[in-house]
Amino acid sequence: MKAVAEPGDRGLMPLAAATERLLAMASATPLVGTEVLPLEAADGRVLAEPLRATTDLPPWPNSAMDGYALACAAWAGEPMEVSQRIFAGHAPGPLQPGTCARIFTGAPLPEGADCVQMQENAEVGADGRVRFTEPLRVGLNVRPRAQECRAGETVLDAGTRLGPIELGLAATLGVPSLVVRRKPRVAVLSTGDELVAPGLPLGPGQIYNSNRQLLRSWLERSACEVLDAGIISDDLQLTRRTLDSLQDVDLILTTGGVSVGEADYLGQALREGGTLALWKLAIKPGKPLTVGEYQGTVVIGLPGNPASTLVTFALLARPYLLRRMGCDRVQPKGFATLAGFAWPPGNRREFLRARVEAGRAEIYSNQSSGVLRSAAWADGLVEVPEGQAIAEGDTVRFIPMSELLA
Ligand code: AMP
Ligand code: MG
Repeated sequence: MKAVAEPGDRGLMPLAAATERLLAMASATPLVGTEVLPLEAADGRVLAEPLRATTDLPPWPNSAMDGYALACAAWAGEPMEVSQRIFAGHAPGPLQPGTCARIFTGAPLPEGADCVQMQENAEVGADGRVRFTEPLRVGLNVRPRAQECRAGETVLDAGTRLGPIELGLAATLGVPSLVVRRKPRVAVLSTGDELVAPGLPLGPGQIYNSNRQLLRSWLERSACEVLDAGIISDDLQLTRRTLDSLQDVDLILTTGGVSVGEADYLGQALREGGTLALWKLAIKPGKPLTVGEYQGTVVIGLPGNPASTLVTFALLARPYLLRRMGCDRVQPKGFATLAGFAWPPGNRREFLRARVEAGRAEIYSNQSSGVLRSAAWADGLVEVPEGQAIAEGDTVRFIPMSELLA
């Protein structure tokens, strides 16, 4: 398929190559420093040490049902005496041979029992004896000892991102606190003469700064500590002074000013005070990306159009940060779905703001990189590879927003 070339699209860097380079940089400069946090404060953080089970879980076989525990082989079809009642949280005595025990879900199986018949399959006679109406077998309705894990086993690897499920699992193991990686400190810097903070009046030619809030909230939910470096106007002195003031951060994340336009003061400041690489990425939205360093601190400069900021943060800056935190799996997962739209081929990989409805991806009507509403409407991104045309009904990759935002 012939791709439609756009001016300035020669020699673009494929997304995979850019990702690989950024992740290699991140792996080479892992964050040093951990802290011990109680489970309730560890949501979203990255586990710094493997979580190991200290006991078998469950420590004893227990009942999966409300019913009767017995030794399978002892049941000959005659009504059986109930010799004890076992509730969850109570320790049973050994089972008297030839009898069964009334048992409730989660209660330990008495020694000598090997199965549980659920109460729905039992009939209690006038004399209190029970008869079972369905066949029994060894292990029926029994949760065996250590079905969850064995003592000493690694249950979560170092580098695991902690969420409700992982924290619940830690609690299951009886662990009250975890060793997590410290939060990376990220300075967020918005560049542009036109930018005004929400709440202030707009002058001629001015627009509100959306990227600052977008990145701030996103970084905070990505286990980062945000240092808000505000808005800087397109001015070399101010750019230098601001960069100079950003001490002790792990990353300087900027938006805007990366197109090789005349107001390229960020680039100039980096060239003088550090290093600068301008990557022209084969993605849309989001072609220009600055990757550099200022007095030893890594600088990633995202393009300023809000949808470009979103896509480059989601696909590049965020995985970079997570990798520095020691996360292994940092790339968003996508799944195959059918296109409910048609799209022409281009020579950049496109990320269309889309929704999946009734098994088909629909795209927002306006895919301009200046339209952030497209992403608010969407619940994911459809990935259209370079040079590929999409016809309705084609299989496309859909990356849910939840994969990017978590
Ligand atoms: P630039 O990369 O500075 O050339 O900016 C590209 C486009 O994104 C321009 O239309 C800018 O006005 C816009 N833009 C840059 N930064 C922001 C921001 N923080 N919030 C909203 N729009 C922005
Ligand atoms: Mg600008």
